[in-house]
This record gives sequence, structure tokens and C-alpha cells, in this order.
Amino acid sequence: MSAVRRFPGRMSGGVYFGPADWRAKKWAIPPSPIPESAAAGVAAVTNRADLSALLRRVALGKTNLFTPALADQLALLGERPVRLLVLNLLPSEPESTLAAALTDLALPHLRAGLTLLDMAVRADHRLVAVDRHDQRTLKVWRSVAQGHDLEVKALLGKYPLAHPLVLLRVLCRRSALNYQAPAAAGFLVVDPITCWALGRAAAGETRLTHRPVQVVVEGLEPVLAMAPVGEPLQDLFARLGFPTTGMECIAGGMLSGRLVNPADAVMEPHTDVVALRPTPRPEPSADCIGCGWCVQACPTALNPAAILAAAGMRAAMPLAHLYEAAGCIDCGLCTYLCPSRLPLAATIHTIKLGLAGRPDTETPANQKVFSSPELR
Ligand code: SF4
Ligand code: SF4
Repeated sequence: MSAVRRFPGRMSGGVYFGPADWRAKKWAIPPSPIPESAAAGVAAVTNRADLSALLRRVALGKTNLFTPALADQLALLGERPVRLLVLNLLPSEPESTLAAALTDLALPHLRAGLTLLDMAVRADHRLVAVDRHDQRTLKVWRSVAQGHDLEVKALLGKYPLAHPLVLLRVLCRRSALNYQAPAAAGFLVVDPITCWALGRAAAGETRLTHRPVQVVVEGLEPVLAMAPVGEPLQDLFARLGFPTTGMECIAGGMLSGRLVNPADAVMEPHTDVVALRPTPRPEPSADCIGCGWCVQACPTALNPAAILAAAGMRAAMPLAHLYEAAGCIDCGLCTYLCPSRLPLAATIHTIKLGLAGRPDTETPANQKVFSSPELR
């Protein structure tokens, strides 16, 4: 039987769905010089304009749904100095082991991408921050930073989903910045896959044709695989020997991913994790008991209970609560914790789409996992 293990010292979203006795392994960084094929490409990029030109040439778009594309961030940043370069963590549990697997799988090109990024922005920045759980990437950064006037620090590991808005709250402690992109505050947020893809671009590969994906099957040890972008998830599971019959497939993580049909859904450039779990039994919702857990857990300081109430009692509750929904990052923590099993995140997601003038075309055909209150 699978275990759901909580990490008490961590953000309340720290949940692990694998075997109870599985522990992170010890690791060392193998020597992995930048591949010869990439070395010239890396050396050719020495400033931000070069980096922007490379990004335009290879059309490296979003590899992570939550982090704005590097090209967009550079455009927003303009000529202003970079105050902080943040390398995002990998958004799944347990980060340390899967991050180690990623660096094993992709280390040479990851190192090339990090070096390229370092050369392009180092004139202005002095600090690189990575999540403290991503020890392997931290070590790679430290080796890249040797000889440069560059400080590498581990962050607190207190932000779920590596969302830039939450990073800003952790780093700036300024809620006023909540609705701005990190680059507006002088921050560049880069996910490891972008760094890896940059390294491949430097080696002359033009597009993100495949990417690492974490495959999580309830009760089994998670694995990391390289998957072609566009590959049907059904084929990916078959390739790895995971049967899908009688299982629900979730793309994008157990807490905030989406239910998908593995026969229809394909690997997208931003698909970082896919999971399989037995179809859960339905669990009915009850009335809100005012426990405040959702308020306490919300990483963007919203009041999910009040937003839900405002949605149901439009005239009686302040409409301002409805507008709060715009600050939701869809992390799903409120729904996960709610003892009354209320569909907080799914409702707030629908309100958010309404505020943005977009119909919620995703539900129910592409129902959000966090709308399934039975997830425990
Ligand atoms: S309202 Fe819920 S889903 Fe949205 S950011 Fe807050 S905790 Fe996450
Ligand atoms: S966690 Fe659920 S029960 Fe508790 S205040 Fe929020 S909505 Fe109400």
C-alpha cells in the first residue's frame, strides 16, 4: 500500500506518494565537461543581447507553465540590471532525488546552459539563488561560478510549485509585487529545463524536441525519463512498463495538475511530471467550518473561504473578495487541506478565468485534479 508522507518542516504542500521506505540517495557530481559541440556556442554568447538573439533564433518558449519564458523576462527587463538570478527548483516530491536524477540525465548540457546564462548576465548580477532541496544543481552552479564574482545561495524552500509570484513574496516580502512579473523587480527566474535546452541550443540543436519528465505511479518509486515532445502519454507509460488500465492520469503534478486521457494527451514542452493513480472513490463536500486552514496555507495570502463565499452570495459579501481570485496561482493547497473537502481551487480558477474574460473551457473535459476533493 502506498504511503502519503508529510514533511513537517516544509510547506504544507510537501506530500510524497511513493513507497514509505524510499529515501533520497547520496550523490556526487560526476565530471562532465561542456560537450565540444556546445563549447563554441557557449563562448559566442557573452552578453544579454547575444542571449536574447539566441533565444529568438531557437524560439525557446515556456518550458515551465509557471515561469515566464526567459525571452519575455529579458524583454521586460530591458537595459536594467539583473538584481537576482533565480534557478527554479523542480516542482515535485522529493525534489532532491529527482533533481539529482535530472542532473545525471542532462548534466553536460545543463552545465553548458548555466555557463551561457552566467556569461550573458554576470556583468550585472552578484547572486544566484536555487532551492535548498536542489543540492545537485547548487553544486553545479557553484562549480560554474568558480572564478567569478558570484555568490550562490540556497533559498528557504518555502514556495510551492516554484511559482515566480511566490518567489517574489519569499525574496522581497512585498505583497505589492504580487501581480507583477519577476523581471519587473529585476529578477530573472529560470527553470532547469530552460538551462538544459539553452545548452543544447548552444550545441546547434534548434528546437526543444524532447525533455525530461518525472513519472510518478502511486506506490512505486518515481522515475525520470526523456520523452519526445508530442509523444502520447499512453506510449510513454507503455515504454516504461506502467499499465494505465483502471488508473487516472494526471499531467502536471498531483496537487495542481489536470486529469487527462493518456490516449489523447501528449507530452508538451512544459510537461514536467505525469502521474498515475487508481481512480479514487468520490467524497462529498460539507459546509465550511471556518477552520482557516486554507487561509493559512495560501502562498499568495488570499482568503479562499471568503472567495468561495463571495462566489455563492454575491450581494451579501464584498465583491473585492472575488477580485482576489486574480492572485491565485492554482497551487491547489487550499483544496488539499480543506477538511470539508470544498472545491476551493477549482472554483477560484473558474472565477479567475471569468475576471480575465475567458470562459472555463477546461472543465469538465479536462477537469482539474484539485477539483477532486477526495485527493488525500
Ligand atoms: S487560493 Fe488556493 S489554489 Fe489559489 S493560490 Fe491560494 S491556496 Fe493556492
Ligand atoms: S479550509 Fe475549508 S473548512 Fe476551513 S476555512 Fe477554508 S474552506 Fe472553510
